[in-house]
Amino acid sequence: MYLIGNTADYSYQIYIEEENIMAYVISDDCVACGACAEQCPAEAISEGDGKYVIDPDKCLDCGACADTCPVGAPQPE
Ligand code: SF4
Ligand code: SF4
Repeated sequence: MYLIGNTADYSYQIYIEEENIMAYVISDDCVACGACAEQCPAEAISEGDGKYVIDPDKCLDCGACADTCPVGAPQPE
């Protein structure tokens, strides 16, 4: 589970796990700028081979990476 905030955040995180919301994925359009990784509240994004990648087990489906990305690479799976 992803306990990163107060009691209200904890309840929200349990809810999304039970609903099994899909993770975001980063397409090959990624230019490896790293901006999304700095914004991710779950620390789910890391540098991969030529682009950044999202750990689906950590992703909270919040969309912050998509809002930050200059090329629109993160998309809901
Ligand atoms: S959707 Fe949110 S939690 Fe998932 S990788 Fe993007 S910023 Fe992180
Ligand atoms: S913000 Fe976009 S281009 Fe930059 S590392 Fe993340 S996915 Fe790649």
